Amino acid sequence: MPVPKRKRSRARRDSRFANKGMKVQSITGCLNCKAPIATHQACKGCGFYKGVKVLRTKDDRLVDRAHVRQAKMANQAEKNPSAVNND
Ligand SMILES: [Zn+2]
Repeated sequence: MPVPKRKRSRARRDSRFANKGMKVQSITGCLNCKAPIATHQACKGCGFYKGVKVLRTKDDRLVDRAHVRQAKMANQAEKNPSAVNND
Protein backbone atom coordinates (compact mmCIF):
# COMPACT_ATOMS: atom_id res chain seq x y z
CA MET A 1 0.00 0.00 0.00
CA PRO A 2 1.45 3.41 -1.00
CA VAL A 3 2.24 5.67 1.89
CA PRO A 4 3.17 9.40 1.78
CA LYS A 5 6.91 9.88 2.15
CA ARG A 6 6.60 13.01 4.31
CA LYS A 7 4.07 14.61 6.55
CA ARG A 8 2.19 17.50 4.92
CA SER A 9 2.90 20.77 6.69
CA ARG A 10 0.03 22.58 8.39
CA ALA A 11 0.29 25.43 5.86
CA ARG A 12 0.14 23.06 2.92
CA ARG A 13 -2.79 21.15 4.37
CA ASP A 14 -4.76 24.27 5.40
CA SER A 15 -4.23 26.05 2.08
CA ARG A 16 -6.51 23.43 0.58
CA PHE A 17 -9.44 24.98 2.49
CA ALA A 18 -8.44 28.59 1.94
CA ASN A 19 -11.00 29.19 -0.81
CA LYS A 20 -13.79 27.11 0.72
CA GLY A 21 -15.74 30.15 1.97
CA MET A 22 -15.58 32.01 -1.33
CA LYS A 23 -18.84 32.66 -3.14
CA VAL A 24 -19.65 34.15 -6.49
CA GLN A 25 -20.67 37.77 -5.99
CA SER A 26 -24.24 38.46 -7.04
CA ILE A 27 -24.54 41.24 -9.58
CA THR A 28 -27.55 43.31 -10.50
CA GLY A 29 -28.28 46.30 -12.73
CA CYS A 30 -28.48 49.88 -11.50
CA LEU A 31 -32.08 51.14 -11.50
CA ASN A 32 -30.94 54.57 -12.68
CA CYS A 33 -28.24 53.96 -15.31
CA LYS A 34 -28.54 50.16 -15.88
CA ALA A 35 -24.83 49.62 -15.16
CA PRO A 36 -23.90 46.27 -13.54
CA ILE A 37 -23.36 46.70 -9.78
CA ALA A 38 -23.01 44.48 -6.72
CA THR A 39 -26.29 43.95 -4.85
CA HIS A 40 -27.00 46.12 -1.78
CA GLN A 41 -24.43 48.68 -2.85
CA ALA A 42 -24.73 52.14 -4.35
CA CYS A 43 -23.86 52.55 -8.03
CA LYS A 44 -20.42 54.14 -8.35
CA GLY A 45 -21.21 55.48 -11.79
CA CYS A 46 -24.27 57.61 -10.98
CA GLY A 47 -24.32 57.54 -7.15
CA PHE A 48 -27.85 56.14 -6.87
CA TYR A 49 -29.11 53.42 -4.50
CA LYS A 50 -32.71 52.20 -4.85
CA GLY A 51 -33.59 55.28 -6.89
CA VAL A 52 -32.16 57.75 -4.36
CA LYS A 53 -28.99 59.81 -4.86
CA VAL A 54 -26.61 58.85 -2.03
CA LEU A 55 -23.10 59.44 -3.43
CA ARG A 56 -21.28 62.45 -4.81
CA THR A 57 -19.65 61.19 -8.00
CA LYS A 58 -16.73 62.53 -9.99
CA ASP A 59 -19.12 64.13 -12.49
CA ASP A 60 -20.97 65.94 -9.67
CA ARG A 61 -17.69 67.38 -8.43
CA LEU A 62 -16.80 68.46 -11.98
CA VAL A 63 -20.10 70.35 -12.30
CA ASP A 64 -19.61 72.00 -8.89
CA ARG A 65 -16.09 73.08 -9.84
CA ALA A 66 -17.32 74.55 -13.13
CA HIS A 67 -19.93 76.61 -11.22
CA VAL A 68 -17.27 77.88 -8.80
CA ARG A 69 -14.98 78.79 -11.71
CA GLN A 70 -17.79 80.67 -13.50
CA ALA A 71 -18.63 82.59 -10.33
CA LYS A 72 -14.97 83.50 -9.90
CA MET A 73 -14.70 84.71 -13.51
CA ALA A 74 -17.90 86.76 -13.14
CA ASN A 75 -16.55 88.28 -9.94
CA GLN A 76 -13.27 89.20 -11.65
CA ALA A 77 -15.09 90.72 -14.63
CA GLU A 78 -17.20 92.78 -12.23
CA LYS A 79 -14.15 94.12 -10.43
CA ASN A 80 -12.01 94.80 -13.48
CA PRO A 81 -14.06 94.88 -16.72
CA SER A 82 -11.27 96.36 -18.88
CA ALA A 83 -8.90 93.43 -18.19
CA VAL A 84 -11.41 90.76 -19.28
CA ASN A 85 -13.25 92.31 -22.25
CA ASN A 86 -10.79 93.58 -24.85
CA ASP A 87 -13.05 93.15 -27.90
ZN1 LIG B 1 -26.10 53.83 -11.76
